[in-house]
Amino acid sequence: MSRPDLLMTGPMMPLVQEGLAQRFTVHKLWEAADKEAMLNEVAPTVMAIATGNHSPTDAALMSRLPNLKIVGSFGVGYDAVDAAWAGQHGIVVTNTPDVLNEEVADTALGLLLSTVREFPQNDRYLRAGKWLQKPYPLTGTLRDRKVGILGLGRIGKAIARRLDAFGVPVVYHGRSEQKDVAYGYYPTLVGMARDVNVLLIVAPGGDATNKIVNAEVLAALGPDGVLINVGRGSVVDEQALIAALQAKTIKSAGLDVFEDEPRVPAELIAMDHIVLFPHVGSGSVHTRRAMAQLVVDNLVSFADGKGPLTPVPETPWPPKA
Ligand code: NDP
Repeated sequence: MSRPDLLMTGPMMPLVQEGLAQRFTVHKLWEAADKEAMLNEVAPTVMAIATGNHSPTDAALMSRLPNLKIVGSFGVGYDAVDAAWAGQHGIVVTNTPDVLNEEVADTALGLLLSTVREFPQNDRYLRAGKWLQKPYPLTGTLRDRKVGILGLGRIGKAIARRLDAFGVPVVYHGRSEQKDVAYGYYPTLVGMARDVNVLLIVAPGGDATNKIVNAEVLAALGPDGVLINVGRGSVVDEQALIAALQAKTIKSAGLDVFEDEPRVPAELIAMDHIVLFPHVGSGSVHTRRAMAQLVVDNLVSFADGKGPLTPVPETPWPPKA
């Protein structure tokens, strides 16, 4: 059995590295002293890329690899891969959907509760010895909240199910109404923001969603409004969010994702009334292992001639004629 050449663009979990090494000759780009020289050397024969999205897999990179057939991307969001270009050039892109739905939904609920009930601040209060002086002040609640989900997809639905169990009403906005769900649909984001007091983002990044949560949407959310983002930082106009939080034209925010990760604006870090997570939505050992295995399974299945398991919509399999 031949061992096709695979380019790994950045460090990936041992499970990915070991799994792929059994089927491919793996070239680790980030370990090369001279990356350009390594790329030039392997470019003619590379058949697959494995990426953890540390760097873009864009047209500039893919067009250098004339035998590239597949890009296996770690994570369900693949905005770092130019999947449209890949699709136009007969290259299939895979991601890791579904195996992380429940984990990210758990995180979203944890972040929502942490923000509304101020749990991290409670913890800091106790550790600072302030409880000895007086009890922590009373907080807001989930009981009077209505959640508008931006992006009622695989993860959004897992979040909605949890909110159902919590007795919290849910509505949603996306590009189209889903006839098979019972939640109320809003054709415009600003219209939904006006009607809810929690806006929960779990939509993908990319050009179509870039900064769609802007100053107008935040103004519509209003002074009692809470913004939760477990989707992508690029979906929110971060400067408009900072301005709204500083002016208290929205109440609070819980953020797992940021525009320029891992750099988080000092203005956000300085605010004690918001909750910030370092992009840990899917970050349990269990779920990251499942994602890693799916990266390997996609690439190995393809190399074995059985096709990819989870191609993204821009690169359907088998390819359209
Ligand atoms: P899905 O594709 O299943 O769902 C995405 C949803 O977003 C769909 O309901 C879609 O609805 C909506 N959507 C897409 N484009 C737009 C748009 N331009 N405007 C409005 N709505 C839009 O994806 P998943 O649920 O699997 O994942 C969602 C995202 O969550 C990922 O892309 C990723 O960015 C993020 N994520 C974050 C993690 C973290 O660690 N914080 C972990 C995992 C994922 P419609 O088609 O009707 O518009």
